[in-house]
Amino acid sequence: MDLTCPACRKHNPDADCCTRCGADLVPLVHIRQAAQQALEEGRHCLQRRRSSDALRAAEHSWQLKHTPEAAGLAFLACLHQQQFDAATRWYRRAQLVKPENSGIF
Ligand SMILES: [Zn+2]
Repeated sequence: MDLTCPACRKHNPDADCCTRCGADLVPLVHIRQAAQQALEEGRHCLQRRRSSDALRAAEHSWQLKHTPEAAGLAFLACLHQQQFDAATRWYRRAQLVKPENSGIF
């Protein structure tokens, strides 16, 4: 899982610091892990038809890192709740955000 250094924009393989400028990348790793954890929790909730909890988890994941997966989960949770306007907004967000590993972290 590559990280792009926020200081110098160098792509780094899994590392605790940037190989070019030495910036600490650990906080970014933690944010990414928390976003992934929230996403997995949301998927778990949706599988158990707890769409409100799934939506909250998806929104939390989205706040930490904008991913198509978080937007997609929120889209499905909104559909399950028959919130079609919100589902449409999440669908558009999922289409606009770049795939994993192409963002800043
Ligand atoms: Zn750097």
